[in-house]
Amino acid sequence: MIDYHLHLWPHGSRDIPPTVEQLALYCEKAQANGVTEIAITEHLFRFVQADRALSGFWNNDSNRDLAHQMEKYWSEHARADLDTYVECVLQAKRAGLPIILGLEVDYYRDQMDKVSELLSDYPFDVLLGSVHWLGAWGFDDISCDIVMDEWEVRDIEKVWDDYTISIEELAQSQVCDVLAHPDLVKITGRFPRVPEEFYDRMAAAAISSTMVAELSSAGWRKPVAEQYPNYYLLKRFVEAGVGITTASDAHKVNDVSDNANKLKGLLDSVGCEVLTGFRSRKSYEIKL
Ligand SMILES: [Zn+2]
Ligand SMILES: [Zn+2]
Repeated sequence: MIDYHLHLWPHGSRDIPPTVEQLALYCEKAQANGVTEIAITEHLFRFVQADRALSGFWNNDSNRDLAHQMEKYWSEHARADLDTYVECVLQAKRAGLPIILGLEVDYYRDQMDKVSELLSDYPFDVLLGSVHWLGAWGFDDISCDIVMDEWEVRDIEKVWDDYTISIEELAQSQVCDVLAHPDLVKITGRFPRVPEEFYDRMAAAAISSTMVAELSSAGWRKPVAEQYPNYYLLKRFVEAGVGITTASDAHKVNDVSDNANKLKGLLDSVGCEVLTGFRSRKSYEIKL
């Protein structure tokens, strides 16, 4: 098994520069859960380099309260140095730890060329692509009242449609390798009348691109209490030959490779016998 989605810092906390010792602890914890290779994939928006390139994307949203909230969230988070991060993970790699260099990239509508340009100078092994924001609405920030109030007033069919359109555009952009938590929009447990219609579109987005899909245990730690993606969507991916990575999306060492065994059980149940690994943005097969 692999764990291809790991963060160094909890949200909102100060970015203490990572150390090889911290990464060694991540590897140890992963191994204890039967995981033999990990990818460190901090959020792009934690870095000052992203701030310079992408700050202000929320200004297109006419909801000023949400735009203001996003501005605040962003300035609290975009503080670390990307070069220091990259150097630390490379150092861990050189020291022989079973670790690869990744990043979790958010989808920025009409700005993915900028993202691509910003990242092209770094030796990433894998880039995750995620939709966390619809305009200025960071819909998955379930600890934020303004965000959660918005869930009460929006039409759920429309939210799922907006989310799915962003997934389709992200896949089309071809900037990233892995569709992270593909059905994150279900995080609060609100579902449209026919979720399968949306799952079919998400599957089609992956099929028509070069992206593989992530199977993540993080959803079990969220109100929805279900892995990402849903069983139906996972099955669609596997049947269509879309590659699969496994992940915990841990933001602290205790959650590293959380429920890896349960993920393995799900893979068995849909007949998935290989995972997809990455080196220097090139995919290869890992037999389970
Ligand atoms: Zn994410
Ligand atoms: Zn994440």
